[in-house]
Amino acid sequence: DVPVLTIDGPSGSGKGTISRAVAHRLGWHYLDSGALYRAVGVAAAWADLDLDDPGALVRCAFDTEIDFRETPDGDLRVLVNGHDATDELRTETAGAAASAIAAIPAVRTALRDRQRAFRRLPGLVADGRDMGTVIFPDAAWKVFLTASAEERAERRYNQLKNKGVSVTLAGLLREILARDARDASRAVAPLRPAPEAVCIDTTGLGIDEVVDSVLALLPG
Ligand code: C5P
Repeated sequence: DVPVLTIDGPSGSGKGTISRAVAHRLGWHYLDSGALYRAVGVAAAWADLDLDDPGALVRCAFDTEIDFRETPDGDLRVLVNGHDATDELRTETAGAAASAIAAIPAVRTALRDRQRAFRRLPGLVADGRDMGTVIFPDAAWKVFLTASAEERAERRYNQLKNKGVSVTLAGLLREILARDARDASRAVAPLRPAPEAVCIDTTGLGIDEVVDSVLALLPG
């Protein structure tokens, strides 16, 4: 049986950074499920699909080729239909498109088996919104990360600024609150912790502290 650790939480809670670091420390595989939703959102935009046409979006979710490649310096690149879309996927436009298509139940179903296919030995760290509740309900360890909206906006701001993207903190805070509201209120797989998840509020905590508290949940 392949062990799974799920790490769910809202955008900017530190899920991505923490999950990658934990996977690295354990030598386990890593699933960035948000990247799958973002990739479908971006592929839909490339194909000029109507966000109000669920049928076309579901076909897009099935047909879009999404590949994760690790560069020699440990950077994770995402190829969408063969194109390196890593930087485009990180934009808030891609996040908003992901959040819109993620509210369509059949799109979520289309991506379900792809996500489960990441479960391979020696283990998987799965990062997302519904990893512990829907995709890997039998995961042995479940974590839910939170942080204040202000701190999450600030983290995104610093991430994007480092990439040379021009954004304002107030604009990001507004977008993050809007995306949270949509993710929490949608009918399917709304964002919420699995009942058995360990919740960690990362406000004011450093990366290493959070990584250590997550690793402390696992034996040995
Ligand atoms: O985690 P990330 O910010 O990359 O996710 C982008 C969007 O994709 C989220 O706002 C959410 O709507 C959607 N998503 C989801 N289920 C997941 C991962 C992401 O609905 N497991």
